[in-house]
Amino acid sequence: MVPELSLALIESLPKTDLHVHLDGSLRLETIIDLASQQGVSLPSTDPSKLFSMLYAGDVCNSLDDYLKGFDITLSVLQTEEGLERAAFELAEDAWNEGVWFIEVRYSPMLHMQRGLRLTQIVEAVLRGLRRAKTDFGIRYGVILCGIRSMNVENSLRMAELAVAYKNRGVVGFDLAGSEVNNPAKEHMVAFQLILDNNINCTAHAGEAFGPDSIAQAIHKCGAHRIGHGTRLREDGELLNYVNDHRIPLEVCPSSNLQTKAAKSWAAHPVDFYVDYGIRVTINTDNRLITDTTVSKELWLCHKHYGWSLEQIKEIVIAGFKSAFLPYREKVDLLQKVTARLDEIQVPSNGKLLDTRTPTPSVDYHDTGLVEPRGEAASQAAPSTDITR
Ligand SMILES: [Zn+2]
Repeated sequence: MVPELSLALIESLPKTDLHVHLDGSLRLETIIDLASQQGVSLPSTDPSKLFSMLYAGDVCNSLDDYLKGFDITLSVLQTEEGLERAAFELAEDAWNEGVWFIEVRYSPMLHMQRGLRLTQIVEAVLRGLRRAKTDFGIRYGVILCGIRSMNVENSLRMAELAVAYKNRGVVGFDLAGSEVNNPAKEHMVAFQLILDNNINCTAHAGEAFGPDSIAQAIHKCGAHRIGHGTRLREDGELLNYVNDHRIPLEVCPSSNLQTKAAKSWAAHPVDFYVDYGIRVTINTDNRLITDTTVSKELWLCHKHYGWSLEQIKEIVIAGFKSAFLPYREKVDLLQKVTARLDEIQVPSNGKLLDTRTPTPSVDYHDTGLVEPRGEAASQAAPSTDITR
C-alpha cells in the first residue's frame, strides 16, 4: 500500500508534456469564440453539446473515430489570430498544472484552408508560445508533423519547414495520423531529410498497429522517441532494443483507452513498461478531445497502478531527460527540477491508497501480449544522471 496522493499534489510537481497536439487541445469556449469571430459555423454553439461531439470518451471505437473531432477544431484554426491564441492558451493551461516544458505538435499543412502560407502558420504558433514564455516562464519546443495518410511529398514539405525553423523554435519532426494501411516507411525520405539536418524526430507507432510499425519507425525512419508504443510489449526483442537504447516512449494512457489501443487500465502496458525499466514519459495527447492534463494522467496511474510519489518523480524526470533540448540546457533544467522535486514530499496525513480501487492483474496470455521477462529495473532515487 502506498500513501494516497491528491491531484493537487501531482499538479505541484514540475512536469513535461512531450506529446500534445495543438489542434486537439483548445479550450472549448475558445472554439465557440473563434467561430463567431471568424464566421465559421459549428455543429453546435452550446458548450455541452459541442463538448460531447469533441470528447472521445467511451463512444469512440478506434483511432479513426477519435480523429473525427479534429474537423471541428481545425475549422477555427485557419487564421493567424486563431493559431496564436490556441498556442498561447495551451501553454498557459499547461503551466497552470505545473508543466515547465512543453513540446507542442501540429501539422502546418492542415491550416491552409483559408489561404494562409506555411510560414505564416509556423510564425503564428511560435508567437503564441513566445508570449506564454514571457508571461509565465514556461519553456517550449514545436514539433511539426507529417501525416501518414497523406502522400510523402506533403511530409517532405513539413520536414523542409522543420529544417528552415530549426533553432528558431522548431525542435523536431513527427509522423501522425492513421496507422493502418499507412506504413511509416513510405515517409522515409522526409525522415532522411530531418536526420541529414541533425534534427530530432519521433513517430506515432504501435498505437493502432502492431510492433512492426514501431520497428519501422526506429529502424527505417530513425525515430528518437516513439509516440504511444502501446503494442511494443508484443515483441520481446524489440522491447529490449527500445529499453537497451533508452528510446523514450511518449505514453498517453487515457487517449489509448479511448482509441481502443488498450482495452482497460488493467490491460494497458504502461505499468509493466515502468516496472521493466523502459524510459516512459506520460503525456496528454489531446487535452480537449481526451479531456485531460498530465497531472490527471499521472494521478490516474497512481490510482490504478499504485504508483508512489517516488515513482511519479522518476517518471517526471524521464520526461525532462527525453525532451528535445540540447544536452547542457537539459542538465541545467534537470537540476532545477530535482531541487523542486526534493521539496515535495508525501503529505503526513497518513492516508493510504484505497486498495479496493481496481488494481491491475494483467493476464498476459488473455491479452495476447508477451509475458514480461528479465529482471525488473531497480527503482533508484531520482537523479540528474541523464544516461539512465
Ligand atoms: Zn498523438
